[in-house]
Amino acid sequence: MKTRGYVAHAPRTELVPFEFERRELRAHDVAFDVLYAGICHSDIHQAREEWGPSLFPMVPGHEIIGVVTALGAQASRFEVGERIGVGVFVDSCRSCEHCRNGLPQYCTAGMTPTYNGHERDGSTIAFGGYCTEFVVDEDFAVHVSESLDPAGAAPLLCAGITLYSPLRHWRAGPGKKVGIIGLGGLGHMGVKFAHAMGADVTVFSHSPQKEADALALGADHFIVTSKDASWAEAVERYDLIINATSADIDLNPYLRLLDLDGTLVIVGLSGVPVQIHQSLLLEARRSIGGSQIGGMTELQEMMDFCAQHDITSQVEVVSADYINQAWGRTVASDVKYRFVIDAATF
Ligand code: NAP
Ligand code: ZN
Ligand code: ZN
Repeated sequence: MKTRGYVAHAPRTELVPFEFERRELRAHDVAFDVLYAGICHSDIHQAREEWGPSLFPMVPGHEIIGVVTALGAQASRFEVGERIGVGVFVDSCRSCEHCRNGLPQYCTAGMTPTYNGHERDGSTIAFGGYCTEFVVDEDFAVHVSESLDPAGAAPLLCAGITLYSPLRHWRAGPGKKVGIIGLGGLGHMGVKFAHAMGADVTVFSHSPQKEADALALGADHFIVTSKDASWAEAVERYDLIINATSADIDLNPYLRLLDLDGTLVIVGLSGVPVQIHQSLLLEARRSIGGSQIGGMTELQEMMDFCAQHDITSQVEVVSADYINQAWGRTVASDVKYRFVIDAATF
């Protein structure tokens, strides 16, 4: 299937228009026309090899919303014309303990990423969502309510689930104090979800100009971390703090703000190892955890939660020829709060 998109041919080069072939439908596949694809900071990290060597040519994009156009002979979960979403992975081994328990994002054999990896045959390059058409196994796609704005729904597939999953796992809710570090694509979804779950929400941001937006998104408090270090002297005690920044920041001040048995969860992935003062863990039995996106069941649960609570991402819709500028602005934390590409412009 002929597909138009944008590609990085090598690390740190600009993205350019690209035509490629998608696989023909297999029995359990679904084909869809892409409507919108979100720009995640992970697209930039990988195209610039900030996490190590990447696979090129790379068509990035793992926040994909579309409309189903065709079904494989045995595909039964979707209907033609239905709205569909695909996130960060498109397959997994399906047989390991984690896959059997509905946690394919932690597949012990490694999930198949939507791009920057091979399909399970070990040789076909997986191409992501910065394009016009997509083909996916029906078990790795979710139903998306027509009530959600499709552009605003696209970032739910990565930014949304990456915050929803740890907020659920560490039980954000009424009576819990939750901190979100970094009001970017991930962080602003964390604010919306933690607020909807009933937690008291604080945003820690190095961008003072984001205060009004943070409060409008549902934050109860906003703390600027870039002026001086006095914010770190607060006596506030948090149950859960999630680091959603893309940068190499000092996490020690945040550990100090955790209550007894509090947890710092890392979802931001700068690629730089972190240094921690052990005493900050010991003195209040604090923990550090990590969390990676979410499984297919949880992704559908989050989509339904969003339809129920009318939650989407706050987006700036751009055309394909703006992708390189959008990447530059994302790195500069200059986006409110997620760029989404209109696939009609590829
Ligand atoms: P983003 O939209 O660029 O947001 C990152 C935020 O980090 C910025 O808005 C900014 O917030 C803060 N920040 C940026 N530079 C900073 C600096 N020098 N010092 C302090 N804060 C800084 O990125 P994103 O798409 O949300 O992704 C965030 C990170 O999560 C990336 O590393 C990405 O790869 C990773 N990620 C992980 C998963 C997972 O499964 N765990 C999934 C998706 C993405 P303020 O302006 O408010 O300070
Ligand atoms: Zn992502
Ligand atoms: Zn597995």
